[in-house]
This record gives sequence, structure tokens and C-alpha cells, in this order.
Amino acid sequence: MKKLYIAIVILFVVLVTVIIINTVSYQSRQMIVAPVAPVATIAVDANKAAQRLALAIQLPTISNQQVDVFNAKALLQLHGLIERQFPLVAAQLERRVINNYSLLYQWPGANPDLKPVTFLAHMDVVPAEVESLTLWSYAPFSGTLAEGFIWGRGAMDDKSSMYALLEAVEHLLAQSFVPQRTLYLAFGHDEEVGGAQGAAKIAEYMQEKSIHSLFTLDEGMVIVDAQLSPAKQATAIVGIAEKGYVSVSLTAKAQGGHSSIPDKISAIGLLAEAILALEENQMPASLDGPSGKMFEFIGPEMTGVQKMVFANRWLFNQVILSSLLAKKSTAALIRTTTAVTLLQAGVKENVLPSQATAVVNFRILPGNDAQQVLAHVSKVIDNDNVSISFTKNSVKKPASLVSASDTPEFLMLEKTVKQIFPNTLFTPGLVLGGTDSRHYETVADNNYRFLPYQVSNEDLARVHGVDERLSIKAYGQMIQFYRQLMLNVAQ
Ligand SMILES: [Zn+2]
Repeated sequence: MKKLYIAIVILFVVLVTVIIINTVSYQSRQMIVAPVAPVATIAVDANKAAQRLALAIQLPTISNQQVDVFNAKALLQLHGLIERQFPLVAAQLERRVINNYSLLYQWPGANPDLKPVTFLAHMDVVPAEVESLTLWSYAPFSGTLAEGFIWGRGAMDDKSSMYALLEAVEHLLAQSFVPQRTLYLAFGHDEEVGGAQGAAKIAEYMQEKSIHSLFTLDEGMVIVDAQLSPAKQATAIVGIAEKGYVSVSLTAKAQGGHSSIPDKISAIGLLAEAILALEENQMPASLDGPSGKMFEFIGPEMTGVQKMVFANRWLFNQVILSSLLAKKSTAALIRTTTAVTLLQAGVKENVLPSQATAVVNFRILPGNDAQQVLAHVSKVIDNDNVSISFTKNSVKKPASLVSASDTPEFLMLEKTVKQIFPNTLFTPGLVLGGTDSRHYETVADNNYRFLPYQVSNEDLARVHGVDERLSIKAYGQMIQFYRQLMLNVAQ
């Protein structure tokens, strides 16, 4: 008995020692570089640039639910505006219009042996809901400059990115900069409805011409503030993957008839059981993918108990998973999510429906696929009276490939972040929504998703919502970032 007691004590001491050693030796993965001179001193005039962006916001390049209807006039006006506002770009870059409305600019590099880099952005925006128009501080397509902000649709998503890229190139051309590698600017016109006519066609063109990029950089993640960052300080998150999308229909069947003599369980009851079972038994969570990578980067920057837990993932993996699953925002990072979105049954209050249907939308984690989702749904529901199938005519796309986070290019992104945004943590991460990037998987080694602006938690919620805005200061830094990145990758 005494021996056992001693053994337990020794084991405990060893365990505590290992935990402490792991925590103390948990090395930071953050790069240390000297920041470059701040925006103001490098002659990026953020106010003038903001005025140019404001004019672009005024053009309602709206993508609607009806995917093949574009605001052709606004898109063509935007093409013309760009030509007038960026004369050096217009004169010195080769411009190609793809599928009538999308744009591809080529800035030839001096060394044709180097793989090009492609910067992506999109020209279209989502509409502003009619019901919410009165809630806007400034009309959504007014492009108002006020209170230090640029206001309107596209200020954050994604005209600021397109324009900041153009500003950066114009600025470098004015300094007679000649890139070593070729740089492309690729602007799709239908990202908000999937990019099939825009980004997909640009990528097709690149494939045809055997243009294969070292990497693409697109929207996706941003620099989140301390409040939102798990490490409690501003953190630049570069998306290295994005989730997939599939919807599954559930149809429960039962005896229909008069509601005065019902069966014990109705079609609606059966369906309700099935839905509850799905919500209670979700797809398994995992820290193996891009989100696990994120915690490898920011774990060492945490403090106290949190740091200890992440330094000892071998021991605390379950604890970490449970705590991430407790919040919906972090749960979505580590598993395929289950969301019941449509429900249909019954025609009259005294008629028992013979069938009830529901649609469940899944956002697929890299590592899972649609067939696994379907198998999971069948296993959990396990009822012959409930049929299960992929929803017809709805979008179905796999999770993207996971891009590398240990390449020289990725380090180049980190270096640029640290140069322009000192005191900001850097990490790879997972994009929960969709971007144009997925169309470029076959024409680039890696696809990175990052908008270089620092934004508050509150402002982040305005994307696709009311009062979308970007501070002029953040816009200036954005231009600075792209300019520096172009120098870093092409000097
Ligand atoms: Zn966007």
C-alpha cells in the first residue's frame, strides 16, 4: 500500500515537472523585425486616396441573389473610373477584361524565371437592405468621408482592398519601381454570388496561359483587436483555408389524415426528433487543421493557466476542445457546423401532414467532406421513416485545400505585417465564409486570405450590415502594407 502511495506521489511530481518545463520552454513563434517608417512619412496621402475610394463606393456594383444579373453599367463605370484615377497603372500595366466585367492587370517582372504573385479583390458588393436604409448614418452608396471614416458598401468588403492595391502600384510606378517577379491584380465582379463568372474565368484564363503563381492574396481574415483575439492582443490572422458548404434535406413520412384520430407520432414529431438528434450529436471537433495551427502560433503568447494548457496539448487536448466548443464563434473553428435553416410541413390546422421536411446547412471543416456529412446524418438519425439526401439545386462545395504556413512566402507575409503593424501577433487561421480564392487553387502554390486592416470588433460586425465603414487611417496602412509586400516579394 505504501509503495503504491509513493508511486502515485512520484508520478504526480513527474507530471507537474513536465507541465512546468513545457510551459516555461514554450517558445514564441513570432518573427522579430524592425518596423518601416510610418505611413505619413512615405508620402501615402491617405486622405486623397480615401477620396478616390469614395467615388468607387458611389458606384452601385451590386450582386443580387439572381446570380447572372449584374449591374453592367456600374461595373463598366468602375472600369473607367480606375483608368482615370490611376493614370500610371493605366499607362504601364497590361489590362485584360475577362468575361466582360472582371479585370486582370499584369505588371511584368524583370526576371521571367520567378513565379508571379497574384493579388485578388472583388468589385461587387452586397445590396443594402431596404428595411435598414434609415438606420445608416450616411447613405450606403454615398461614399461619405466623415468622422475620420470612409462610409458605405465596399468600404471594408472589398473595394478598399481593390483600391489600396491600385494605390500601392500607382505609388511604386511613380517611384519607377521595377518588380523582379510579375505581379497580377485580379478583380472579379461576382464574388458575392460565388465568383463563377468572375474569379473562376480569370483562373481559367491563367490556366490556359500557364500562369502559375507563387501565391495569391485575397480577402478573408483581418487584424482582430485584443478583445477578439485569444491571445488578448491585436492579432493578424492569415486564412490558409476556408470551409466548405453543403445542405442536406430531411423528409419524415407518416400517416396523414384527420387530426381527430392521430397516430402516436406525426411526421412533424419524427422530423423534430431527427433535428434534435442532429443538434445534440454534432460532427466531431478537431485541432488538427488550420485552427490547430493558429493555436500553435498564439499559444505561446498567452499567459497564466491558458499558456500552460496550450503548452501541454498532449495532456489537455480534451479540455481545450471542450472550452472552444462552449462558444459558437470558436466551435465553428474546430468542427463542421450544423445549422437547421428551413422547415416545411402541413397545410391546414386539422389535417395531419403525410410528410415534413427540413434543410440543414453544414459548413465543412477541412479534413471532412460532404459524404462524411451525409454518413454522419444517417447514423445519428437512424430512422427508416426519415429519408436523407443532399438538397437539390443548392450550392455544394468542398472545404478548400490547406495552404502551407511554413513557406518563405508565408514568412514574407509575417515580415510585412510586423513591419507595418508593430506589436501585432501573426498567425495562420481558418476562414469560415467563402472567398474567390478557391477558384485559384489550381493556378497557385498557395492561397492566402488576409485583409491588412486593423479593425474593432464592433466595426467587423458592419460588414454586409448597416454602417459599413473603414477608418481613413486604417486605409492608409492598408496601402502601405500592399506597397511593402510588393517590395518584399518583388524587389
Ligand atoms: Zn468580400
